[in-house]
Amino acid sequence: MKETNIYRSHYSVVIVGAGPAGSNLARRIDSKKYDVLLIDGAEQKGDKACGGLLSPDAQDLLAEYDISLPREILVSPQLFSVRTIDLEIEDVQHYRRSYMNIDRAKFDRFLLEMVPDTVDVLRAVCKTVRRHGEGFTLQLKTKDGEKTIHCDYLIGADGANSIVRKCVFPCNKIQKYVAIQQWFEAEQENPYYSCVFDNATSPSCSWIFFKDGNMVFGGAFSSTHCREAFEIQKTKLIEKGIVPAYVFEKPVKTEACMVARPHFLSGICQGDGNAFLIGEAAGFISPSSLEGISFALSSAESLARAFEKGMDGKNIIRYYKNGTRKLCLKVKCKCVKRPFMYNKILRTLILKSGVAAIKMKLQERKV
Ligand SMILES: Cc1cc2nc3c(=O)[nH]c(=O)nc-3n(C[C@H](O)[C@H](O)[C@H](O)COP(=O)(O)OP(=O)(O)OC[C@H]3O[C@@H](n4cnc5c(N)ncnc54)[C@H](O)[C@@H]3O)c2cc1C
Repeated sequence: MKETNIYRSHYSVVIVGAGPAGSNLARRIDSKKYDVLLIDGAEQKGDKACGGLLSPDAQDLLAEYDISLPREILVSPQLFSVRTIDLEIEDVQHYRRSYMNIDRAKFDRFLLEMVPDTVDVLRAVCKTVRRHGEGFTLQLKTKDGEKTIHCDYLIGADGANSIVRKCVFPCNKIQKYVAIQQWFEAEQENPYYSCVFDNATSPSCSWIFFKDGNMVFGGAFSSTHCREAFEIQKTKLIEKGIVPAYVFEKPVKTEACMVARPHFLSGICQGDGNAFLIGEAAGFISPSSLEGISFALSSAESLARAFEKGMDGKNIIRYYKNGTRKLCLKVKCKCVKRPFMYNKILRTLILKSGVAAIKMKLQERKV
């Protein structure tokens, strides 16, 4: 992470978190008008557990910005369909949907590199935030020790476990799950993303896809017995002949983190006054598929525009809430779609009907 050597103790805007939401805001906010500090606590930028799949919505946003991704960010294979696997009714269907398969760490670093030099960047963990009068005081842990920073406007872009949300909006809670992901060496690569449903072990869906010679298996689970549920799913995938047992033998890497999941608009919190939340910290993530990169980029764009239009704290939040109306509607629509994905009877009807499914020309293959 490129760091600014000299930084002050007061900024007009502090952004906590340099994931897609924070980096995009730092790039898009008028940093000549506001003096901006972007902080991130990660030892190495971009080590977040993630599928690294860019949905069509995320691709559209990159197109709107006229950003093309350098070749080194793309990984193989590129994905053209979603294979839906229901472990309970033992049915499989393929649906058309294309994802760009990317190296998430490199993507985050790429976004961070686009932040202009007029923004100060600091590697620091934000330990606490205190609101006082018109501004905020942040207690930071840096490699040189504890630091205190003051600001007029505070932005929490610090993901599912947002410290800004916890400290400034403690009553505004969101449902969270534990996401677990394991990587395994794989001999072959399938050009699709498998979406695995098993109501018995997870209220969400799990996923299997390939990345540069590895098979990634992951899922989101309720926090109690999450690891056990993850292992049960692996056993079921072996028993149903979907993944050969030897593939699961030696994980190359195991990752875990929290993932937010809004329920309609409960859980969404854009902030108020002069404190704002963007990306997953605000609850902007798809409740059906847990895709969040497009939501992070889009909410950051809305806040940058609100800063452009707003003359004081109150106006900015009003413009930001207006600007994220479409995003809120998208969350609502995904919540409406959710029962069709997660209700066993509705899902069975859809899978058996074959509506919108791709007619596969070859026999189903194992991963
Ligand atoms: C296992 C898993 C797989 C996923 N796969 C996909 C996928 O394939 N496609 C997709 O679109 N979405 C996916 N998502 C969702 C997506 O990763 C997130 O929604 C997206 O990264 C949100 O971006 P963000 O910038 O809001 O937050 P984040 O990407 O979480 O970034 C937050 C940043 O804040 C920093 N931070 C956190 N706390 C502090 C602190 N106290 N002090 C300083 N810095 C702090 C972190 O270091 C991090 O850099 C996945 C999520 C999980 C958990």
